[in-house]
Amino acid sequence: MSSLSEFVRTAYEKSAAVRGMLTAAGLRPEDIRSRADLGRIPLLRKSELAQRQRSAPPFGGFLTVPEGELQRIFVSPGPIYDPQGSGPDFWRWGQALSAAGFARGDIVQNTFSYHLTPAGMMFDNALRRLGCTVIPAGVGNTELQVQIMREAGVTGYIGVPSFLYTLVKKAQELGYQNDIRLRKAWVAAEKLSEELRSIMARDFGIEVFQGYGTADLGCVAYECPARNGFHLAEGVIVEVVDPETGRALGPGQPGEVVVTLLEPTYPLLRFGTGDLGALTDVPCRCGQPGERLTGIFGRTVDGVKVKGLFLYPHQIEELRSRCTGVRFIQAQISQVDFRDVLLLKVELDQDENAAGTAAAVAQQAKEILRFTCRVETVPSGTFSDGDRNILDTRTWE
Ligand SMILES: [Zn+2]
Repeated sequence: MSSLSEFVRTAYEKSAAVRGMLTAAGLRPEDIRSRADLGRIPLLRKSELAQRQRSAPPFGGFLTVPEGELQRIFVSPGPIYDPQGSGPDFWRWGQALSAAGFARGDIVQNTFSYHLTPAGMMFDNALRRLGCTVIPAGVGNTELQVQIMREAGVTGYIGVPSFLYTLVKKAQELGYQNDIRLRKAWVAAEKLSEELRSIMARDFGIEVFQGYGTADLGCVAYECPARNGFHLAEGVIVEVVDPETGRALGPGQPGEVVVTLLEPTYPLLRFGTGDLGALTDVPCRCGQPGERLTGIFGRTVDGVKVKGLFLYPHQIEELRSRCTGVRFIQAQISQVDFRDVLLLKVELDQDENAAGTAAAVAQQAKEILRFTCRVETVPSGTFSDGDRNILDTRTWE
């Protein structure tokens, strides 16, 4: 018997919610024997988790131990209750921070919130597990945080990328830059731009790593020193699925990141994150085997379905960035004779060689979007900065 089937059987026995969900789908625990069988279980949406928690507070019937055996109970926006079960690193972030080089001897300023939401405690626990010294700084207090960074000899930062930038700029402004020993930063919860990452390395000597997870799930995926996609964490099974059907998608196809949390205390089977990602089976340069997430591109709700395939804003942006001389592309979706039609309106930097550029865009679109589409160039100045790059004019009845 595989460890997955054993896990599902125990979850079924101990969690009323898991039992209810499997039964409603006409499944018995013995039906789930392999990873492929997981696909038979319907997705658990965050909204459904919140709803189940309202009707059976606090944990909606997912918790498999008495509340009094937990270390802590957190409350994320929603509100959604998040349990902290036993163990020194319950959310398994140690693997992510270790891959980023955090180790004994580091003095780390943890700027995630310690109040109600679990983020602060998640990383605090993982850092302590690795032997790091933690400054539980929390959010805000920019000037004080810079002073602490300088006086306490801080070597590592944990938090969101925008606050890292704020702190480093403030240190520079106060003339402290040469007194700061900060050399590594680990960020999450916000999009990290590659531009910010290279500014940090080039101008401040700080190497920035990132990871992906949620308050409900803990660590899901993280960067290794190659910083080329996210290795999947231990303790979870990650799928990328069609958000409508829940069916798993192949490597390279963007879809919803769905996570099965293999935590006996709080078994969440096929939790739909609503985050948009893609898997790759191309081996990482670091040599560690296994699938990786190539990135998190946004939220799945921003996608539209065209001719049976999903189309997302990040794909249009990728197409734009690959075509020289193109300032903006808007994908317009309409229906003609009940069939979807995809038209790319392309605004050029300069109104020259329009025909050649249009042909190049059509060629790239075939590759990146996997659609054959009509391309029309429009004069520069047609689109303004606030315009969306996907416009769906189909009417639904
Ligand atoms: Zn790697």
